[in-house]
Amino acid sequence: MIYKRKLSTENRGIGMTSQGTRDRLVQRLREEGIKDERVLKAMTQVPRHKFVDEALSSRAYENTALPIGQSQTISQPWIVARMTEAILDGGKPQKVLEVGTGSGYQAAVLAHLVPKVFTLERIDELLKLARRRFHGLRLNNIYARYADGHVGWPSQAPFGGIMVTAAAKVVPQELLDQLAVGGQLVAPVERGGMQRLLAIRRTEDGFEENDLGAVIFVPLLSGL
Ligand code: SAH
Repeated sequence: MIYKRKLSTENRGIGMTSQGTRDRLVQRLREEGIKDERVLKAMTQVPRHKFVDEALSSRAYENTALPIGQSQTISQPWIVARMTEAILDGGKPQKVLEVGTGSGYQAAVLAHLVPKVFTLERIDELLKLARRRFHGLRLNNIYARYADGHVGWPSQAPFGGIMVTAAAKVVPQELLDQLAVGGQLVAPVERGGMQRLLAIRRTEDGFEENDLGAVIFVPLLSGL
């Protein structure tokens, strides 16, 4: 009996990692302007505490970024929600490319919402941990690769959505080239000494840019 109970609480979590704690975070995101119920539902389903070190799991449902090692961070839940909302805006892409797998949390949220998620990471240790989490949660629609995200994933292009989760000085042209017409690329970009979250839609004749506000991300680096 005790063994059975242990199994059933494993994914739901207890105390600070319980479903109730997760639901409260999602309620807060709703109050802070996240409107897309599909995104909010996905975020009630993904156990964020599984994407951080166990020592930090009691803080996993605070609305803050947290360290994940290698000087990198798992993004703040509100930002994950906002970027996911932007990617789904105007339709439901079949394939989404993420640059910067990090903990894997953002990819896991996307995996609940679109058929296929492709994600690139330039730090092998982080990629290995993320892959283990995807496997543990049976997220079989995430394809993760060790690569410099500047080049994208040409063999899988075009993508209905592209999300960059590290700040670039300029949006890499290769990524814009891999965006489908009608699709959106969402990325933090350095502008005038700060970072702005941009949503760039590809149209029949070019690209349309929308500024979603100020953000703080780790930098998009080059090379492996
Ligand atoms: N999406 C992540 C947040 C990642 S933080 C999450 O949900 O946890 C940004 C990540 O981008 C870091 O892991 C960093 O190593 C990675 N990164 C930075 N430059 C990159 C590049 N050129 N290609 C691929 N990944 C990159």
